[in-house]
Amino acid sequence: MAKRDYYEVLGVSKNASDDEIKKAYKKMAIKYHPDRNPDDKEAEAKFKEAAEAYDVLRDPQKRARYDQFGPEGVNGAGGFGGGGMNMDDIFSMFGDIFGGHGGFGGFGGGGRARKPQYRGGDLRLKVRMTLQEIATGVTKKFKVKKKVACPHCHGSGAEGSGATETCPTCHGNGFVVKTQQSIFGMMQTQAVCPTCGGEGTIIKNKCKECGGEGVVNGEEVIEVKIPAGVGDGMVVTVTGKGHAARRNGVPGDIQVYIEEEPHKELLREDNNLIYNLLLDVPTAALGGDAEIPTIDGKVKIKIEPGTQPGKVVRLRSKGLPAVQGYGYGTGDLIVNISVYIPETLSKDEKKALEEMKKSDNFAPNPSIKEKIFRKFKSYFE
Ligand SMILES: [Zn+2]
Ligand SMILES: [Zn+2]
Repeated sequence: MAKRDYYEVLGVSKNASDDEIKKAYKKMAIKYHPDRNPDDKEAEAKFKEAAEAYDVLRDPQKRARYDQFGPEGVNGAGGFGGGGMNMDDIFSMFGDIFGGHGGFGGFGGGGRARKPQYRGGDLRLKVRMTLQEIATGVTKKFKVKKKVACPHCHGSGAEGSGATETCPTCHGNGFVVKTQQSIFGMMQTQAVCPTCGGEGTIIKNKCKECGGEGVVNGEEVIEVKIPAGVGDGMVVTVTGKGHAARRNGVPGDIQVYIEEEPHKELLREDNNLIYNLLLDVPTAALGGDAEIPTIDGKVKIKIEPGTQPGKVVRLRSKGLPAVQGYGYGTGDLIVNISVYIPETLSKDEKKALEEMKKSDNFAPNPSIKEKIFRKFKSYFE
């Protein structure tokens, strides 16, 4: 089939400038681009024809030969032979015009296959911590079973010097180019090299200890610094202390899951600690001392005479510290006071209480009555 005249293809005159040729091609390339004309054979032919014409006319030497000898002047003489251009050539030409690789609609030869970066697996550990340990932070030691770099080959997987060589399949590129028939003609795609798995090198003599993997089963004692203020379910990550990776790749991490051991007397709410103090009736009425457990041992607080149940005493900064960078500083120890009423009474106790009842002083104070009333009401607001 006779080829159309290249100037005619691009719709420009014989003495068109380089700029005019470029502009004309750009217009046609956009119009007939396969992304815009899927499954359109005619558009595809026009797209290729325009590319072919432009490839000749943009090059002053080729253009001169074409002007003098016609299509025969460029075919097989630094041109593209009888088979036409392949799509990779066309799309690399797009790069020249539109900028970037393939330059148009993300279509084209695609990026190079990346060399694989092996990564070791992560290890998960659980650690139980008491509130005392959480208050101060602690360094814990763990003996962990994990993959370690093979001591024989130092993780390379190769035995002796010169045991590694450039992959003969991909010549070190790590990928191979496949040519496939597609609706746009012959298409080239890149795939990870099947021989070296993308590494670009192969091991001639594999290490006998690790079989070329570069890792073996091992054990390591690991110290993990757990900061103060952590809470149940938090995770502390130790970067790079997980399983060693194949052939000196990037090791995994260790993730330490915090489990909080419940305290016998103190409850935790964020950074605050809560202690529910149960007073006996005489101490609540007469006043006195009460022992309060804290993280650093017991402290005594003063109980005022006439202390009512429901009173809250706040011991500032006796709670837990915040994890660095989080929260609002050290919490408080909140003491919630209740009063214990005896469940049974002796004869004498009954008598004494009945005597007390005769005193008006034991009738509830109206202002406290009001306070209790408000407190109850507030639950429903
Ligand atoms: Zn080895
Ligand atoms: Zn290879």
